[in-house]
Amino acid sequence: MILFNLLRRHGENVCFKCTRLIETADELSIEHKEPWEGVSVELFWDLENISFSHLRCNRTHRRKGGRADTKKVGPDGTAWCRNCKAFLHISAFSRHSSRWNGLQPWCNGCYERRRKQSKVSPES
Ligand SMILES: [Zn+2]
Ligand SMILES: [Zn+2]
Repeated sequence: MILFNLLRRHGENVCFKCTRLIETADELSIEHKEPWEGVSVELFWDLENISFSHLRCNRTHRRKGGRADTKKVGPDGTAWCRNCKAFLHISAFSRHSSRWNGLQPWCNGCYERRRKQSKVSPES
């Protein structure tokens, strides 16, 4: 890739998201600040008009916070139960307003079971 070699020569192969070096052309992701299509090809090659990033940094830039990958998003109307390790209908969950999906991380059945277990064998 010509562009990547050009960048490396200029020392511009730096990711603007994580500020680390972009080592290979496969990792390179290009974003144009100004649209160049129909304007000028020079704008396409204008390094001032381009932001470079790792593909993976670019792909994840819509996420908020670092814990997004712990989210389990299932089919509509379902939520993930950490204990069942399965998607269950949201009616099986209690509300939890401070969580991202507004539901408890465990289904009601699991909470019930845990409560009973803790009665039988209290941790002490
Ligand atoms: Zn990066
Ligand atoms: Zn469960």
